[in-house]
Amino acid sequence: MSREATERKESESDTFLLSAIVDSSEDAIISKDLDGIITSWNKSAERLFGYTAEEATGKTVAELLIPDNRQNEEPDILARLRRGERVEHFETVRRRKDGLLLEISLTISPVKDADGRIVGASKIARDISERKRAERAIQSLNAQLTADLAAMTRIQQISIRMMQAGDFPQLLEEILGVACEITQADMGSIQLAENGVPKIAAQRGFGLPFLESFGTIPSAEGPWGMAMQQSERIIVEDVASSPVFAGTPALAEMLGSGALALQSTPLITRGGSALGVLSTYYKVRHRPADRDLRLLDILARLTADLIERKRAEALLARSRETFFELVERAPFGIYVVDANFRIMQMNAGSQNQAFRNVRPIVGHDFGEAMHILWPSEIAEEIITVFRHTLETGEPYFSPRFTKPRKDVPAVESYEWELHRMVLPDGEYGVICYYFDSTELRNAEAALKSANQDLEQFAFSASHDLQEPLRTIKIYSELLAKRHGDALDSEGKKFMDYLCSGATRMETLIRDLLAYSQLSRFEKTGDCADAKKAIEGALSNLATTISETGAKVNLGPLPFVAMGATHLQQLFQNLISNAIKYRSLDRAPVVCITAKRQSGHWVFSITDNGIGIDPEYQETIFGLFKRLHTTDEYAGTGIGLALCRRIVERYGGRIWVESEPGQGSSFRFTLPV
Ligand code: ADP
Repeated sequence: MSREATERKESESDTFLLSAIVDSSEDAIISKDLDGIITSWNKSAERLFGYTAEEATGKTVAELLIPDNRQNEEPDILARLRRGERVEHFETVRRRKDGLLLEISLTISPVKDADGRIVGASKIARDISERKRAERAIQSLNAQLTADLAAMTRIQQISIRMMQAGDFPQLLEEILGVACEITQADMGSIQLAENGVPKIAAQRGFGLPFLESFGTIPSAEGPWGMAMQQSERIIVEDVASSPVFAGTPALAEMLGSGALALQSTPLITRGGSALGVLSTYYKVRHRPADRDLRLLDILARLTADLIERKRAEALLARSRETFFELVERAPFGIYVVDANFRIMQMNAGSQNQAFRNVRPIVGHDFGEAMHILWPSEIAEEIITVFRHTLETGEPYFSPRFTKPRKDVPAVESYEWELHRMVLPDGEYGVICYYFDSTELRNAEAALKSANQDLEQFAFSASHDLQEPLRTIKIYSELLAKRHGDALDSEGKKFMDYLCSGATRMETLIRDLLAYSQLSRFEKTGDCADAKKAIEGALSNLATTISETGAKVNLGPLPFVAMGATHLQQLFQNLISNAIKYRSLDRAPVVCITAKRQSGHWVFSITDNGIGIDPEYQETIFGLFKRLHTTDEYAGTGIGLALCRRIVERYGGRIWVESEPGQGSSFRFTLPV
């Protein structure tokens, strides 16, 4: 083969190899001349742009591939090629045969002939639609994340603001500002329910006319009331056509204010009650994105929390005020001494009482104040009891401190009660309640001495009366016996009156003496058997029992810390009353029981007698208090007064439970 032929052969095989490489490339490879006319078009170019090589070659790139709005690119590219420049990774858009636009990256290199002249260009086009889509997705995701982050930061800032004490309306304005900002709303409002009606608490972007007329919109009307009542968000994408506004005066108001769309999110507490609504308004027809709604939910929750907290704070502040008022107006002194013995707080009552002679200074040393107010040994005693309570936590009741009064010949006395308490700084302090009991104590002392005199008088009188009475009784009886026959019938009647009067007086004096003796006896610590005491009483009452056919039933009975005579006196009075005040239509039945109840014995003497009207159930325990005349029932009215005195002397209590006609139950307690 000639050299030429060999060279031709070699060149042909090179061209073939090259075209095979070009065809197998993933990228579209196109060559064109300097006029932009396509001279070659590989397989990938066919796949990418949809034109076959035959269809493409001979056409210009501009007419075949370049969309109208990018026609200016080609002259520029050709000019650069002519200058021998390479165009690298030029990202642009080209049109496929089927009209679809493709995003591609172009790399265009000038092609030179054997003499080095630029004769055309080779162009590699790569479909970057996928990459661009991914890039755009990332960009939008980024933008979304940035916006979310910004929104969350704002929400976090506002939630921190909410934690700090702040002006409530101002905070609501700020929340609304954030809501409008993160949802790109044009206007906003927060309405809070007042008696079930949503009232504007904060607003943004509305004019005065709307605000004035807003208050007149019935609560059930519009999205605000609906959101609150249903506890659900209401979204109105188009105010004009929404059934929410159809036929309501609110429609004109909304359109007048320029709001074409809105959403209202209810402010629901953690307990589930709707406090109001958070609304955002848009000047275009609009539906907030899900993301915006989620952010609004967070804001609504924060707002509901804030409102609840503010309301709780207001309630607390009010109750604190009430509490202070109570303490301040208390008719006695209250003050607090801290661990360092400084007077911490003091109510007005304190200043009217013991501290009236010193300038009441909060922060003043308590010990010093006491030394100014009291003789020093009492001051020391007071300080000691305060210290004791502070150190041990034991309360201190009714220690009474007295001192001679300067102006009157009486003593000045104060009564105190101390308790340990924890102060706001976590340390212990002592709270002291005290009152000036001077007048009370002086009156008490006067009463006591008057009572003593009276009792002494009653005792002496009844004691001394016994003697002459006995003489009257004996001689009237003798008179009746020896000279009775000499008297006419009227004389005999007078004689009878004399005798029975003397007997009645004897009983009265005996009872009165027993009563007044009770104030003089000293408790001995004796123990008495209740059963024996009752048996003694029953034996004294034997005649009455047999005459009336009374039955007395006894339950198990204890020993009690009491003098036996007193116990028998007590039972005898109660049993004799139970029989005396019997019902006429049945034989008397008396039941006596005792049961142990919280550190006491409770005795019951129950009868089936005439019973006692509730109105008199307390009165009958008074001295000489009777519900019947002596003709109906004999008696002095001293029996129950005596019982009360005995029981109270031994630290117990006596009362009656009764229903008229149904019998009575007298109960008394005695310490175990
Ligand atoms: P009195 O000497 O009149 O019995 P008391 O002090 O013992 O005086 O009783 C006062 C009043 O209480 C009696 O007058 C009687 O009206 C009423 N009373 C006392 N015990 C009973 C009872 N068991 N049932 C009904 N009434 C009673």
